[in-house]
Amino acid sequence: MVTPYGKLHQEVEVGRTKVEVQHPMAMLYHMCRVSKGVSELMKPLPNSPASPLRIIIYADEVLPGNPLAVTTERKLWVFYWSVLEFGASVLSHEDIHTCVVFVFCCIVLCVVRVGLFHAAACARSLHVGNHLLLCACCRIHVPCSMLHIPFHAYQEAWFEVVILRSVTVRALQGGVSALLAAVLKLFFNTDHDASLGGIGVEHYDGTRAHMWLDIGIVIADEAAQNMMFSAKGAGGLKPCLLCANVFNSKYRAEAREVSDIGGWSVEHHDPDHTKLVFHTAATLQVIRGRLSAPMTKAATDALQTRLGWNYEPHGLMWNDTLLKHANPVDHCLYDWMHVLFVSVVFNIALFLVMYAFKGLGITMQIVHDYVAA
Ligand SMILES: [Zn+2]
Repeated sequence: MVTPYGKLHQEVEVGRTKVEVQHPMAMLYHMCRVSKGVSELMKPLPNSPASPLRIIIYADEVLPGNPLAVTTERKLWVFYWSVLEFGASVLSHEDIHTCVVFVFCCIVLCVVRVGLFHAAACARSLHVGNHLLLCACCRIHVPCSMLHIPFHAYQEAWFEVVILRSVTVRALQGGVSALLAAVLKLFFNTDHDASLGGIGVEHYDGTRAHMWLDIGIVIADEAAQNMMFSAKGAGGLKPCLLCANVFNSKYRAEAREVSDIGGWSVEHHDPDHTKLVFHTAATLQVIRGRLSAPMTKAATDALQTRLGWNYEPHGLMWNDTLLKHANPVDHCLYDWMHVLFVSVVFNIALFLVMYAFKGLGITMQIVHDYVAA
């Protein structure tokens, strides 16, 4: 399949490794031409060079097959993209199986029983809610497979860009961050920049249009975000890539004091979100500059720990051109499904609901029959 933007499947070089990609511009051109649905979805979206369509980049690691296998070499990194202007009804309905009423009850109970921090954090922003990932209160798992009500699915609204084995990604110079940079280069490079030159398409009905695109959101779970932006993440002294002053409470106080000269640090489970100091483009620039300075490996390791970022010159954070399109300060968004449902708020809330039900003589079977009715 050949388009004005080249073949649908192309090879790009990430360091010394050749990687096959589904070129997003070629794919968009092709889909507008052959798919009435995509064409009608794209056509009414207003955009201009000053107000481009906002691209969502979504990445995650997936494991086809048995997750309990001795080796998990089939593990893959998958990058998708879509357009924010498609709207929530198109983008969000993917294989969701849960009970809305039940979720609402659980969240209410969570506020009452677990603490206002969770509710305040979640209500304020997904960013602050990210700290829930580190909260020990949210580590209780309760099977909820019996509470399923299906919604619609629109997986077709998400285009794949690259699927690559994790072992190959790990071997890349710059790892996941270098792969993200390669994906972004498909949209923004010296030959063609979708935010400046735009993209011409031919619609299903034969009409032609021109559209401009730029990055709106980079969405992923906590681990993927940190790998994409070269941050230390949950296991580090400074676990949040969005906050300059959040420290992991697992570390000894004296370890924090080395990095906390001004006494401004807060621990990751501090309930007062007004204490958070967010990173800015300027603070990230300072971090990049400090890590780029020549120094011994031991000094680099120590500085990386203190700052909460890894020095990865082949990654996105050290690519000035691409960083203008996608940087953690303006574009990073933690996947709310992971924040609320994977090992965190929903699980503890569901546990508390079922615990309360048990005292009232309401068993899992009764709940199952009620939801299934
Ligand atoms: Zn934070």
